[in-house]
Amino acid sequence: MPQQPLAQVPLDATWDWSEEGSCREADPNLFFHPQNERGAARIMRDRAAKGICAGCPVRTECADYAVRAREPYGVWGGLTEEDREAIYRRLDSRNYPRARGEGLRAAEHEISEAVSAQALGIA
Ligand code: SF4
Repeated sequence: MPQQPLAQVPLDATWDWSEEGSCREADPNLFFHPQNERGAARIMRDRAAKGICAGCPVRTECADYAVRAREPYGVWGGLTEEDREAIYRRLDSRNYPRARGEGLRAAEHEISEAVSAQALGIA
């Protein structure tokens, strides 16, 4: 059986911000794709999750954590798994963000793009 990838939780990680997350009232199935989900179903589910993240008061904290932790699954801070993979491919592995705030700085462009009108399908 293949090993499931695990998040690499930073030592300074906290989750107090998650108490204010807009997803606390949302269907968790929106944020994590079912096995073998592809195509239009995946695009529409990711878009719906991003729409919730777009109005979330702790979006920057959430995105910063997810980038630093290399969260392998789900939509965090408006970033899908593919959005985060694109960030990691662009980064120099020696400058991989681990300290609080470094994830935001490393992924500033992608984070704002992730919840843009185009990403949400309202452009
Ligand atoms: S940014 Fe999105 S995933 Fe993160 S706490 Fe807010 S609603 Fe939840």
